[in-house]
Amino acid sequence: MRALIISDIHSNIEALHAVLAAAPAHDSVWNLGDIVGYAANPNEVIDVVRKLAAVSIRGNHDRACTSTAALEDFSPIADRAVQWTRKVLTREHQNWLADLPAGPLSPNGAEVSCVHGSPIDEDEYLVCTDDAVLALRAARARLTFFGHTHRQVGFAGNGEDTFSLGPIYSSEDEADQYELPLRGGFHYLLNPGSVGQPRDGDWRAAFAIYDQARALFTWHRVPYDLGTTQAEIRRAGLPDILADRLRDGR
Ligand code: ZN
Repeated sequence: MRALIISDIHSNIEALHAVLAAAPAHDSVWNLGDIVGYAANPNEVIDVVRKLAAVSIRGNHDRACTSTAALEDFSPIADRAVQWTRKVLTREHQNWLADLPAGPLSPNGAEVSCVHGSPIDEDEYLVCTDDAVLALRAARARLTFFGHTHRQVGFAGNGEDTFSLGPIYSSEDEADQYELPLRGGFHYLLNPGSVGQPRDGDWRAAFAIYDQARALFTWHRVPYDLGTTQAEIRRAGLPDILADRLRDGR
């Protein structure tokens, strides 16, 4: 069983297309949420994801874009993107988003769990090993796949020590990959990175492949048509910074 794991697409259809074209063969697609918000193609992205993903869980932006409640925790920029997305989403897509489940979900038996933020709270950001210690203690599965931070990172713990993990790439503008063998005796928290708005200093679209039989997790990066995504964000009247930041992956 091989799963393609994607997260934080954020309405970036060009990045999603690039990921799907580059992804090696897989049996299932697991989507960790924040399908919409920030970029300019929420309806197109939902059309693709709902046909594709065996599992989709909701992110905080998916929740915000289908609610009329005030956005207490959102920055003014994120808030403008949410208001814009609410206006353009079709009714059918709003309903589909509103019905997405919160994590944790286990798409492949008890060994694997999918969440948006952390096993403790769907809105929690797992950033450092201190966060990971508590999350690993709360995780029911040996492998937890999470998103929300838009960074390709991981944490491994064996009950005594907790380590942070991350890919090392040899290029900055080409397709690249990094293999992480999953060791017995360790529990893992693994983030595939963000498809549509990376924030780990790498502009390329991010995703991961989990190969159960080989006990292997592989981080991937792939370039995409950044210029088109930026032009569509500007044409939609969304804040310029949402286009600018994509070049730097910040
Ligand atoms: Zn996000």
